[in-house]
Amino acid sequence: MTRTVLVLNADYTPLRVIPWQRAVGLLMDDKVSLVEAYTGRMIRSASSSLPHPAVVALNRYSAFRNRVRFNRANVLARDSYTCQYCGVRPRRPSGRPDLGELTIDHIVPRAQADERGRIRIGQGSRPVTCWENVTTACITCNANKADRTPDQANIKLRRPARVPNQLDVLWMALFTVDIPEEWRDFLPDDSPWRAYWTAELED
Ligand SMILES: [Zn+2]
Repeated sequence: MTRTVLVLNADYTPLRVIPWQRAVGLLMDDKVSLVEAYTGRMIRSASSSLPHPAVVALNRYSAFRNRVRFNRANVLARDSYTCQYCGVRPRRPSGRPDLGELTIDHIVPRAQADERGRIRIGQGSRPVTCWENVTTACITCNANKADRTPDQANIKLRRPARVPNQLDVLWMALFTVDIPEEWRDFLPDDSPWRAYWTAELED
């Protein structure tokens, strides 16, 4: 079974999730320190064995920013797999998001872009397909809204569409893994991670 490792910044704020092999490399290079190991698991090589890292922290503070690929999967993740018009969260029986029930909606529809395929956002203009102009919508809301803006359709976005920030990036990464118990103490209380973890326990 593949175990991933939560990386904390030097101040213990969570940063990202990496494969365990990468974490071992960073430990060997003295770039990170072991914070928490998976209980009862060891990594063995020909000459040595060491605890399997679960959480590591950078030895030097990093101000780096992750960039997020602009694609359908990441838009859905940014929006917590929730329709941003009606708030529905389609789920499979396993509790995982039901991606087949969610669509990507252009907030200002393509049909209303200018001849260069751009729309006005704030003071400037952006391509109609950009982080700030796409959102997650259920099939029903997408069909109801059709070629109208939210104003024209008299509906409201629950959350503004934006370029993901560092915390969004981590949240998106966490959606792709099962959150191990060893990480719990290092994820903020007032975050969707906690809700996610609680929901897992209640299932
Ligand atoms: Zn909806």
